[in-house]
Amino acid sequence: MDNQYRIETKCVQSGWQPKNGEPRVLPIYQSTTFKYETSEQMGRLFDLEESGYFYTRLQNPTNDFVAQKICDLEGGVAAMLTSSGQAANYYAVFNICEVGDHCIMSASVYGGTFNLLTVTMKKMGIECTVVDPDLPEEELAKAFRPNTKCVIAETIANPTNVILDIEKFANVAHAHGVPLIVDNTFATPINCRPFEWGADIVTHSTTKYMDGHAMAVGGCLVDSGNFDWEKYADKYPGLTTPDESYHGITYTKKFGKGAYITKATAQLMRDLGSIQSPQNAFLLNIGLESLALRVERHCSNAQKVAEFLEAHEKVAWVNYAGLKSNKYHALAQKYLPKGTCGVISFGLKGGRKQSEALMDHLKLAAIVTHVADARTCVLHPASHTHRQMTDEQLRDAGIAPELIRFSVGIENVEDIIADLEQALAQV
Ligand SMILES: *Cc1c(COP(=O)(O)O)cnc(C)c1O
Repeated sequence: MDNQYRIETKCVQSGWQPKNGEPRVLPIYQSTTFKYETSEQMGRLFDLEESGYFYTRLQNPTNDFVAQKICDLEGGVAAMLTSSGQAANYYAVFNICEVGDHCIMSASVYGGTFNLLTVTMKKMGIECTVVDPDLPEEELAKAFRPNTKCVIAETIANPTNVILDIEKFANVAHAHGVPLIVDNTFATPINCRPFEWGADIVTHSTTKYMDGHAMAVGGCLVDSGNFDWEKYADKYPGLTTPDESYHGITYTKKFGKGAYITKATAQLMRDLGSIQSPQNAFLLNIGLESLALRVERHCSNAQKVAEFLEAHEKVAWVNYAGLKSNKYHALAQKYLPKGTCGVISFGLKGGRKQSEALMDHLKLAAIVTHVADARTCVLHPASHTHRQMTDEQLRDAGIAPELIRFSVGIENVEDIIADLEQALAQV
């Protein structure tokens, strides 16, 4: 889409651009397959000699229009949808790493990503070094090895709200000839576009703010087109040497800046099949249309809720980068000047028991595993997502036993605060 448009306009108008007489609204191509007149043409599609749809496991028009919108929002060159955020992060790394390779990951990433890299991908022969994201560049540099192939981190970490110094991470990755992958789920491209700060690949769990209504699990992978794979050709043979499973195509030679996403589609999606359903892509697109409006409200509401909590006598601490007292406030001002996200974590002075009691007294805020949707919701990691851990193990993981993750929705903020007020009065 015309790049002069501002991001709010892109949310609404990018992606599906109907031609004369076509439907105004993005159609759902609810079809596994696509019909051709000659067998020869179908053959050319399979050889990637010609572009076109043939089977929805690889590509579907509905998905591609939505991926195009997210690509425009992030300012990338190519994008693909996946069935979940987990699949997006898996593909992002596995597209450029194989057995014997190594990657570096920020310690504060989402638990699912942490497990993916340190447990499951380790079994596939890919090693991962976990680093403290607040380390200076010289210290981070020590984690690199000759076989390091990428660095992965989150703009705003879920649920610790650690803000990534993207430029620092991009500099150290590029100094070692590897790309930086940034999971931009919590920030969304409305508040931060990591490519503008040097990130090379962006991933999303579209399940969160992008969908925004807790309707559809999904993910997305976006390439900036900026990383020069050919310059480090021996490190990335999957992109720079012939793919025998595609008649000897070399992705960088044939597709240029589209190499990374074409490989992820033609090879990983073909073989692993984590495609998003066109129905879910349609729902995601509706969510994206109001993304800019919702994110603005999530942030202004969360700021007021965080300030209310910080001033409350029963609250021991509040972690929200929008607060001046927060360790990451300066980084948030630099990378996320419009606001961070709607997710706050806090603890009560009475500790774990009191935190649990508070949750039971909340009426508007619902207890759910989800975060980042229109409805305010709340989770106590120590008794839910991390319940197998002892208090000591929780502290080691950076999660206080009394930590409450509070995901501020887009309701009237006075109602959200009143709900917290009445619940706090009862504990
Ligand atoms: C939820 C989440 C994921 C995983 O996404 P799913 O859509 O649940 O698979 C990955 N990264 C971040 C930052 C998340 O919040």
